[in-house]
Amino acid sequence: MKEPIINVEHLVKSFGNHEVLKDLHFSISKGEVVCVIGSSGSGKSTLLRCINGLESLTSGTIHFQGESVGRGEKELNKFRANVGMVFQSFNLFNNMTVLQNCMVGTRKVLKLNPKESKERAIKHLKQVGMAPYINAKPAQLSGGQKQRVAIARALTMQPQVLLFDEPTSALDPEMVGEVLQVMKKLASEGLTMVIVTHEMSFAKDVSTRTIFMDEGYIVEDDIPENLFENPKNPRMREFLSRYI
Ligand code: ADP
Ligand code: MG
Repeated sequence: MKEPIINVEHLVKSFGNHEVLKDLHFSISKGEVVCVIGSSGSGKSTLLRCINGLESLTSGTIHFQGESVGRGEKELNKFRANVGMVFQSFNLFNNMTVLQNCMVGTRKVLKLNPKESKERAIKHLKQVGMAPYINAKPAQLSGGQKQRVAIARALTMQPQVLLFDEPTSALDPEMVGEVLQVMKKLASEGLTMVIVTHEMSFAKDVSTRTIFMDEGYIVEDDIPENLFENPKNPRMREFLSRYI
């Protein structure tokens, strides 16, 4: 077994006295594509936010490439640069062009010079098919295009792992396909990804592992063939039946 990039042990997260994540164990190794499925409120977003340091842990540990991630701001910033995140609502800067959106992180955080930053932005915009739109503002783009720009922006940081929180849930149905296609391409290029999604056929097709969460627990963590074809857990069976 390879050394995991991220290893989470005994993760507990509470908001007040509401325990949202209950003693979770989770790891991801290089090249894995892990889809996380489960009902609304089961803790999927909170898990991603804990993994990339947007939420503090109530208890438990996270190791990144074998090293324990502390809670200091400097350490967390370094960690976050290695763990990218793509959100449901894109979170682009609306007053900036597509190119500017894809340069901010590498300029401000990685301190690349303008030339390197621009070259890197263009490289990743090409990767998602958005290079023709470098001078457009987000308001001029469709939802699918905005999400592809957000993915390119995340890639410019060259993260070790990219986390996606329902990247297609805010899109009109006709735009879901173009974003899933880009994510499929990234998977085939070997990017390590954790994807919270309600797109069951995508999870089945693209994931190397799928995790089913229910009420703060990881109930199943298996290859998609087992999980979708032969779900053992009754809650998982009931959840899947809603998608048929
Ligand atoms: P999912 O992404 O699976 O829909 P979430 O992780 O968003 O689930 O939420 C899990 C539970 O944690 C829900 O009951 C939600 O209300 C609660 N929760 C999430 N974020 C917060 C917060 N910042 N403060 C209080 N409760 C929260
Ligand atoms: Mg969520």
